[in-house]
Amino acid sequence: MERSVPRHVTLPGHHSTERTWDYRRLVTTTWQNDFENAFMPNRPVPPLMLDRGEGRTVWDVDGNAYLDMFAGIAVSALGHAHPALVEAVSGQVAKIAHVSPLLTSEPEVRLATRLLELLELPGKVYLCNSGTEANEAAFKMVRKHAGSDKYLVAAENGFHGRTMGALSLTGKRSIRDPFEPYGADVRFVPYGDAEALREAVTSDCAAVFLEPTQGEAGVVPAPDGYLTTAREVCDATGSLLVLDEIQSGVGRTGTWFACQHEGVRPDIITLAKGLGGGIPVGACIGIGASAHIFALGDHGSTFGGNPVAASAALAVLDTIDRDGLIANAVVIGAQLARGIEQLDHPLVAGVRGRGLWLAIVLAEPVSGAFRDAAQRAGFLVNNVQPDAIRIAPALTMTSEEAQRFLDALPSILDDVTPSPAE
Ligand code: PLP
Repeated sequence: MERSVPRHVTLPGHHSTERTWDYRRLVTTTWQNDFENAFMPNRPVPPLMLDRGEGRTVWDVDGNAYLDMFAGIAVSALGHAHPALVEAVSGQVAKIAHVSPLLTSEPEVRLATRLLELLELPGKVYLCNSGTEANEAAFKMVRKHAGSDKYLVAAENGFHGRTMGALSLTGKRSIRDPFEPYGADVRFVPYGDAEALREAVTSDCAAVFLEPTQGEAGVVPAPDGYLTTAREVCDATGSLLVLDEIQSGVGRTGTWFACQHEGVRPDIITLAKGLGGGIPVGACIGIGASAHIFALGDHGSTFGGNPVAASAALAVLDTIDRDGLIANAVVIGAQLARGIEQLDHPLVAGVRGRGLWLAIVLAEPVSGAFRDAAQRAGFLVNNVQPDAIRIAPALTMTSEEAQRFLDALPSILDDVTPSPAE
């Protein structure tokens, strides 16, 4: 990104402990400079600093409004500042914010019970704070169940998180390889290839880890029947089937959980992202016999099951249920998919996905320039892959908002000017 001020500028008052920051008064390049000075360079300097949101609209610190088409990476399921979330979180903070896993709270117990009701399967829940933690819990369950001699199977280009266990299962070499070696033999298969899965999974395989649709790979759905095959091969070999529904779960694809489309029953399911609607919460659910893998003392987290996070998740689940947001995801998702499909533009190669979780597939690797053009036009999208734009808005998105985005797409596409890096 171009900057009009030199790097490492010391701002007036920067040294003062009394200084209160009001970013609204500072030019954009100044906060980007501060960001770069203060943070480890593990993420790029962001193009925007957001100040507030309401519904599907967010405002940056300069007061510019944007229609949010990706909800903080498929997280803000109810949109921004939803009254149910505000009330649940602020009410719970005012009552009691933390109890520790040594005690419990009503929201924590209600959340676990509600998740099992929605899954419609017998199981037991472990609550945590993020997706990667949910997968770490699942990995430990697999270890405990099968021992350390067996290998695991996961999918090429899959994403399961950044901590060492979850990363060892992540099939994207560029982020996985630099941190080798891992303490696990993980074998990767091409995603969606049922035959490759059949060949890879034997009685020496402890577990198969899969996303029902690969999110970070660019919203790539598995072919119909793939999860059913995964269930069959796991049944035949005694391997556990772990479905990572961290991105696909909680209504995004038009069912509470994506595995419900095919009626596939995993042994372990992991959730996060949309579950808390923006408040960090994750869950690892053992189903059937897997509910009993962990014994006393096997796992834990100081913040897991935190009452504020649990209240947020309950508000999300209740609102999705009460307001028919799963049906809304189906209808608005279909409207968006149809509109994208009908676009006649040389840069658009197609659309992938299901429900309110789509990829605009680009004919050229210009997604960064697309994102910038969309931003200039007042829309936030995510350039998930060089040739794919992820659309994952709040489940509350209205038809008018979806149409506004569709109407803007031709001029956004005409405004795509690839940077030299692309
Ligand atoms: N699993 C999947 C399928 C994800 O999409 C992600 C995040 O993008 C994760 C795991 C990791 O979740 P978190 O970033 O909350 O650790």
